[in-house]
Amino acid sequence: MKVYDLIIAGAGPAGLTAGIYAARARLDVVLYEKMLPGGQVATTDLVENYPGFPKGISGSELMARMAEQAEKFNLNVESKSVENISRRGNLCLVKTEDGEGHPSKTVIVATGAEPKNLGVPGETEFKGRGISYCATCDGPLYQGKKVAVVGGGDSAVEEALFLTRFAEKVYLIHRRDKLRATQLLQNRTFENKKIEFVWDSVVTEIRGGKSLESAVIKNVKTEQLSELGVDGLFVYIGTVPNSDLFEEDIERDNRGFIITDQDMATSIEGVFAAGDVRSKLLYQIATAVGDGATAAFAAEKFIEEG
Ligand code: NAP
Repeated sequence: MKVYDLIIAGAGPAGLTAGIYAARARLDVVLYEKMLPGGQVATTDLVENYPGFPKGISGSELMARMAEQAEKFNLNVESKSVENISRRGNLCLVKTEDGEGHPSKTVIVATGAEPKNLGVPGETEFKGRGISYCATCDGPLYQGKKVAVVGGGDSAVEEALFLTRFAEKVYLIHRRDKLRATQLLQNRTFENKKIEFVWDSVVTEIRGGKSLESAVIKNVKTEQLSELGVDGLFVYIGTVPNSDLFEEDIERDNRGFIITDQDMATSIEGVFAAGDVRSKLLYQIATAVGDGATAAFAAEKFIEEG
């Protein structure tokens, strides 16, 4: 059976960068991606802080360019989901959705993270009928309507600003009275007349008929419940890592993000992690790209020293 030098799981910025470096270094590499290349960034309207694009660039265009660059170096990208990764003797074994096991000398896990759910009654029922986790995808459906965004981080604030292009009113519901988002984004939000803040509050229930009609909000300081009439509710309360792939224990932090050393090596020999699936200080495209490059180089060294 064919043994790869490197298998990469995930085609977001970390995986594609690792792929570009590995293919350019002429490793025998394959990248498995369960959906289309691009990862979470592809659903971002405007990326303003990735160096090299002074006017900003749309997330989907940036990712299309990364994929094109990987293709130029003949990176082999296959549309398959990775289901399981394990260590077998001195090799890693990567099982894909078709049940096949693919042996490889090294693996880079770049499977990213996905949006956290609110976990309240009505959320599942109204998914796609008012509840959304992607303003770029669904925002235009709310032209002239009222929407709410839940969360206080960069994602919530950025997407609330984006939604003001369509909605007549955007409520930002946050569980504290201070935002977590960076100051620049906070200032823009405070200046936007369409955004109204609902501080110290959490959503406890989603209600509606055929589609979403309101959210029940609890003020966490007064315990008072109220009903907020909205047509759509966008959830941006952080992410959970796609890190449940391993047969043996892999070291993870208390939120499930994979712990690596500075060279992206995990606690399993030959397995590296890069991007949003990794436990780190800053979750950005720029840091994902750096992780991907380091992981590919470290994998190459690991093979050489093998
Ligand atoms: P985040 O920074 O973890 O923020 C999550 C927000 O949701 C926090 O305000 C948190 O409240 C709130 N929250 C968490 N659980 C909640 C719950 N169960 N109910 C209600 N509220 C809840 O997540 P993020 O905004 O998705 O960002 C993830 C990472 O990507 C961050 O490192 C961020 O800087 C980065 N990012 C950067 C950009 C950019 O640079 N333009 C854009 C998007 C994301 P508390 O504040 O009270 O904890």
